[in-house]
Amino acid sequence: MKRRSTKQREIVYDALMQLYHPTAEEVYEYLRGAFPSIGRATVFRNLAVLAEEGRIVKLFFPDEVAHYDANIDGHYHFVCRRCAKIIDLSVTKRVSFPPREDFVVDTQEVNLYGHCRECHECCQS
Ligand SMILES: [Zn+2]
Ligand SMILES: [Zn+2]
Repeated sequence: MKRRSTKQREIVYDALMQLYHPTAEEVYEYLRGAFPSIGRATVFRNLAVLAEEGRIVKLFFPDEVAHYDANIDGHYHFVCRRCAKIIDLSVTKRVSFPPREDFVVDTQEVNLYGHCRECHECCQS
């Protein structure tokens, strides 16, 4: 099957570059302003294809809908428990484990949880 409409895919990709770890719904809301004719299904499908192609990363957090990340350099995330903000953490030294025979790792995701600065300050006052 021929993949149609790579133009729409680039529009979705560009939106992802502007947003910071958005959900598919947030990408759709963002694009709807500039492209009123774009459909929700189109946005969701193109995000899935981009993730499949390895141009973006689909992130899963416990009890959360998936978020998308245009930053594909392996990095970790900080997640605020209060406002759910996701902040990139650059990794200077990756954690390594002794090799094992009972599984093969293809993705490494590390999430740190706590309170972002804004939420930390408002918790204290
Ligand atoms: Zn916060
Ligand atoms: Zn990220």
